[in-house]
Amino acid sequence: MSDIRRVLVVGGGVGGLTAAATFARRGVEVVLIERRPTFEIAGVGLGQPANALRVYDALDVLDEILATGFSYDRMFIFDPDRRLIVEHKFLLGDDRVPAFCALSRLQLHEILLGAAERAGVQIRLGVTVSSIQEDADRVDVQFSTGQQDSFDLLAGFDGIRSTTRLHLVGTAFTPRPSGYGAWRVQAPRPDYVRGMEFLQGVGSKTGAMPLGNDIMYLFHIRPEPAGVNFAEQDQAELFRERLAQYGSYVAEIAATLNSKSDIVYSPIEPLMLPWPWFRGRVVIGGDAAHTVAPHLTQGAAMAAEDAFVLAREVLDDDVPIEARLMRYSMKRYPRCAFVYTFSGQWLHDEQSVRSAQDLEAARAELTMNASARIGVSDRILNGPI
Ligand SMILES: Cc1cc2nc3c(=O)[nH]c(=O)nc-3n(C[C@H](O)[C@H](O)[C@H](O)COP(=O)(O)OP(=O)(O)OC[C@H]3O[C@@H](n4cnc5c(N)ncnc54)[C@H](O)[C@@H]3O)c2cc1C
Repeated sequence: MSDIRRVLVVGGGVGGLTAAATFARRGVEVVLIERRPTFEIAGVGLGQPANALRVYDALDVLDEILATGFSYDRMFIFDPDRRLIVEHKFLLGDDRVPAFCALSRLQLHEILLGAAERAGVQIRLGVTVSSIQEDADRVDVQFSTGQQDSFDLLAGFDGIRSTTRLHLVGTAFTPRPSGYGAWRVQAPRPDYVRGMEFLQGVGSKTGAMPLGNDIMYLFHIRPEPAGVNFAEQDQAELFRERLAQYGSYVAEIAATLNSKSDIVYSPIEPLMLPWPWFRGRVVIGGDAAHTVAPHLTQGAAMAAEDAFVLAREVLDDDVPIEARLMRYSMKRYPRCAFVYTFSGQWLHDEQSVRSAQDLEAARAELTMNASARIGVSDRILNGPI
């Protein structure tokens, strides 16, 4: 039996639910707290690549995910009128897992919540941590409810605005506005949209990800002012204006947007926390430690991988806990830093297309190199963790 017997997981997103279920399935007593009063979640869809699907396989929920979502094995880059520039067949996956399976964020959360509940995780909703006191052997926590409790480890998977990260590094490292934002809306899937699609425009990019037989989500990435708060009643009009240069299904969806459309806007605020991702018995993972541009659709996948590797390294109690947490940080940092850099560069390059000449130059370069470039990323991310 490991010396880590009681773990507090802070945050009930993909990372926290995966961490809680993974620890609990290894015989650890796990308490998970989530700030929100319910597990209902805003958001659209999540493409889950093969590397994430392998983590879900270890939790015995792969079949459920594959039966719920839409699996695909390629991506396409088009021009604004959906004329093909390049088709890329992903080098991700194997006989057991497809390259990608995309599903609604809510459905993925529900499946992971089911895994956590079956493993015996104690879930407390509407609760946060008020204070953390550590000594060599344990971490004492006071909750927002006034209750106190002791744990062998506190794992913070509390997202981009993590308070566990604040405990570790203060405000020295916070997500910084990139100057870009992502618009998303769910829409009916035309039969011909069978993989991830990017439509490279001038001054922006748009595209689609299939989420099921009948649905997909449309996304749009473009420069937006830092800290902007678009009023809900204006969003349909603003989104429609921003899509004006695009043809094909994008134009059709744009024409249907109205005040009832479920539009989600998020700023892109990257963060890559340098080592270490822990102090004493408090450790972080997922968006709390690294928030990436969405281009490789690897953000939640990295959170799931973090959770899996954390449990594996921590429960292998061959060395003191600090050394195990350092091992976790060292295993995760290079891989997450790769996703951060690759996605960030992709964002920067595509958003640098600012004229018709730039678009022609991008078309020529993407035709020659994009598939090989993404293939390198596939090979790295398909490797063992
Ligand atoms: C436009 C866009 C598209 C994306 N597309 C994809 C994609 O296709 N595929 C992919 O893999 N990733 C994608 N991502 C990234 C993905 O959404 C995140 O990386 C992922 O959700 C991170 O999971 P997490 O568990 O670390 O954090 P979160 O999902 O943010 O979960 C954190 C949880 O902690 C809770 N919490 C926060 N503070 C506290 C507190 N103090 N106490 C208790 N609970 C707290 C929150 O309520 C939340 O439930 C995308 C992101 C964006 C912005």
